[in-house]
Amino acid sequence: MTKKIIIAIDGFSSTGKSTIAKQLAKELGYIYVDTGAMYRAVTLYAMQQNYISENHFNLQDLIADLHNISLSFTFNENLGFAEMFLNGTNVEKEIRTIEVSKLVSKVAAISEVRKKLVSEQQEMGKNKGIVMDGRDIGTVVFPNAELKLFMTASADKRATRRYKELLDRGDNVKYEEILRNVQERDRIDSTRKDSPLIKAKDAIEFDNSDMGLKEQFERIMSLVNARI
Ligand code: C5P
Repeated sequence: MTKKIIIAIDGFSSTGKSTIAKQLAKELGYIYVDTGAMYRAVTLYAMQQNYISENHFNLQDLIADLHNISLSFTFNENLGFAEMFLNGTNVEKEIRTIEVSKLVSKVAAISEVRKKLVSEQQEMGKNKGIVMDGRDIGTVVFPNAELKLFMTASADKRATRRYKELLDRGDNVKYEEILRNVQERDRIDSTRKDSPLIKAKDAIEFDNSDMGLKEQFERIMSLVNARI
């Protein structure tokens, strides 16, 4: 008999957290939760309501309206992962645009937003058997997770990955713009007051700048097997 555990994956933007998280969830039959998608969905909502743009942020209006935001994930059999729904609408594509990426770290720095999302994330993990990725999973959401990973890679490798993803989707983006966005989000995420991105003391660090996906998966699976 194996026991169900919580796997917390944190790290900088575009370090391949979701790739490894999806692989692990599939292998183990666990639920995968992309918490970045939740912060992105709140940001999309704030943009739709005109609470935020590149030049303004009506913070208090967003905070007062947070109770009207309902987030849920629905598993898509064809894609093999759960898509993000905002108030009943599938927003999986809209939340991945560069426009959302440019504003999400400002929204994610708001304590009221974090409080709401963290409590929803803790609820999702209460029966364990979950892989969750984000920035504060091993430090704040599940400080007692059985396995904590901290992913890193060079900024250039990360921007190149994100750039290719967006090009594959047909988005019209420039590499320089992606690189700047990745660096700016890392700066805001690491320096914010509430739940900054830091490596938990007991997290195991993986620099995958030059590591193949297969090798990374095998190394992480052996850590998982030692714990289940
Ligand atoms: O993971 P992803 O890059 O999609 O996350 C988007 C943004 O959401 C991050 O840059 C960060 O500002 C925020 N985030 C967060 N805490 C999490 C997950 C994401 O602050 N647990």
